Amino acid sequence: MSTEAIELGPSPARLTLGHVTVGACARHDWTIEQVRVLFELPFNDLLYAAQWVHRQHFDPNEVQISTLLSVKTGACPEDCAYCPQSIRYETGIESHELLALDAVTEAARNARDAGATRFCLGAAYRGPKPKQLEQIAAMIRAVKALGLETCATLGMLKDGQAEALADAGLDYYNHNLDASREFYPQIISTRSYDDRLDTLSKVRAAGMKVCCGGILGMGETRDNRVELLHELATLPAHPESVPVNQLIPVPGTPLEGAGGVDGLEFARTVAVARILMPRSHVRLSAGRTEFSDALQALCFAAGANSIFYGEKLLTADNPDSDADQALFSRLGLRREERDRGPGV
Ligand code: SF4
Repeated sequence: MSTEAIELGPSPARLTLGHVTVGACARHDWTIEQVRVLFELPFNDLLYAAQWVHRQHFDPNEVQISTLLSVKTGACPEDCAYCPQSIRYETGIESHELLALDAVTEAARNARDAGATRFCLGAAYRGPKPKQLEQIAAMIRAVKALGLETCATLGMLKDGQAEALADAGLDYYNHNLDASREFYPQIISTRSYDDRLDTLSKVRAAGMKVCCGGILGMGETRDNRVELLHELATLPAHPESVPVNQLIPVPGTPLEGAGGVDGLEFARTVAVARILMPRSHVRLSAGRTEFSDALQALCFAAGANSIFYGEKLLTADNPDSDADQALFSRLGLRREERDRGPGV
C-alpha cells in the first residue's frame, strides 16, 4: 500500500488504511485479519497512523514515568523461560525475602524526587500468601502517602486478594500475558493462559487499573505478535498500561540463546499497539538498554508514551536516569504529570 492509500475521513475522526478504518475511539472488536493488515502496512503509513491516533488522546511530547522496585527477589517456583528469578534456573541472581517497609518507603521517596509519578512493587511469587499480602498492603499505603500512584506485580491473585489490594489504595496491578495464547506454552508451563486472564478479571472486578503487555524476541513469529496484540485489544477493557518488553536473554535461562527481535519490528509492534489501544499508555519496558537513542525516538514517534525510569528493572539493567534526561532533552519530551490521563 502506498501513502496515497491513507486518506483523512470526512471529519478528522478516522483514517482509512486499505480496508481497515482507524478511529480515535477505543474499540474491542478488532479481528485478527485487521491487526495483521496494520502490521503489514508500509512503515511510514503505519507510523503516520500511529501518530495520528496518539495525538487524538495524548500530548505527543509527554511521557509517563514509572519506577519499579523488586521488593522480593528470586526463588520463584514458576518456570517462565525468560526469567532469571525462577528457582529452576541457575542464573546467579541474589535472592532476598520481602524488603522492610522503611527500605521500600525510602526507595519510593527517592523515585518521586527523581521525577517518577508511579511506583511499582514487584515480588517474585506464584501468588502472595495472606501474610505477604498484608505486608505489601502496608507498603502500598506508605507509597501512596508520598503522593505517588501505586502499582504491584505479585503473580496470580486468589479470591478476595484484589479487593484487599484495592482497599490498601493500589491503583494498578501488573500481570502480563507475555505471549500469544498459541506461543505461551513454549514459555510457561506452571500456569495457564486462562489463569492469567482470570487474575486480570479479578483486578478489574476490584476496580483497579490494569497493566498488561508482553515480551518480544522470545522466538515468536510475526503471527504470534499479531495474536498477542489482538488478545490485549479485545479484552473487555483495554489495559490502561501496555508494557512492550524486549527479551533480555539471561544466561542460565532456557531463552539465553533466543534470537531477539529486530528494532524496526519492535517499533512496528509499538505502533500497532498504539492504534489498537488508543487511550492506553504504551510503555517501553525491559530491554531498553539495548536500544539506541534513535530507536527509542522512533518508538516514541510510534506512540510509546511511558517508560520505566531508574537503573534497575527487577533484576535487569535499565538506562541510567541521566541518560534518560539527556534523551528527553534532545527530543523535547516532558514528564507527564500525575493523573494526566488520555485527553479524550
Ligand atoms: S516472571 Fe514472575 S512468575 Fe515468572 S518466574 Fe519470574 S518472578 Fe516468577
